[in-house]
Amino acid sequence: MNIPVIDAHVHIQPWKMIKPAHLAMMQGKRPDIPQLFEIMYTPEKLLAHLDREKIERIVSINYVSPEIMGFTDQVNDYAADYAKKCGGRVIAFGSVHPTRTTDAAGDMDRLIALGLRGVKLHPAHQPCYPNDYRNGNANLETIYRKCEEAGLVLMIHTGTSIFPGARNVYADPIHCDDIGVDFPKLNVILAHGGRPLWMDSAMFVVRRHPNFRMDLSSIPPELVPEYFPKLEAIGDKVLWGSDWPAPGVPGMRANVDRFLGLNYPDEFKRKVVFENAKRLYRI
Ligand SMILES: [Zn+2]
Repeated sequence: MNIPVIDAHVHIQPWKMIKPAHLAMMQGKRPDIPQLFEIMYTPEKLLAHLDREKIERIVSINYVSPEIMGFTDQVNDYAADYAKKCGGRVIAFGSVHPTRTTDAAGDMDRLIALGLRGVKLHPAHQPCYPNDYRNGNANLETIYRKCEEAGLVLMIHTGTSIFPGARNVYADPIHCDDIGVDFPKLNVILAHGGRPLWMDSAMFVVRRHPNFRMDLSSIPPELVPEYFPKLEAIGDKVLWGSDWPAPGVPGMRANVDRFLGLNYPDEFKRKVVFENAKRLYRI
């Protein structure tokens, strides 16, 4: 099938900032580490790579996690600067740390002024429940309100993480249900659909709230029908993402081709790999 592809979950990240043990795990046994390192600091190399892979656009995800991953809030400048050099082919997300920021409103204003299109919240790497605003975390409330006002998308990591220090108790998508109740206009993406433990919770929350979506990133494509037997029921709310270059993801094109080879109707596949992201990001 010849469908244009928006890979809505890719990690172009400042690898020099990552703690050594975490970087080693992220890189795994990939044979292409030197090339990837170059891509992380050279937008032209990424654009050439996207051409080779026949990927129209990507959404690149960065987040602040000094305590677990090593990422400082400098990731926002990095992400914005990188995207600016890619002429619209890279839609960039940044982040404000929900418990460490000392000026959530100011940090959000800066993130918005940088031109970033979304905020990534990583409850397992920024240890905090996504509904902690109900227990007095005013930073989270500010982050969500500002996203809602400025039309930014909120992506929340759901599902386990095995990086050293990750706190998985926070990563169950059921904690995101409150956000749909309290911030109904906020566009929310549950990244990874709660895999591999909480797919049913993710499906429930996404179906319940009109502005919730989920992405299929970091799920081996062949497991998608087993993990989400009713996926077609939320056909307008599923986004394709590879999570490249995470371990186990050989390539953006290799992964999307595996998804396109699954036994779903063509119309559904087209929505997932292209139309839904196009609409959400107003491309
Ligand atoms: Zn990811």
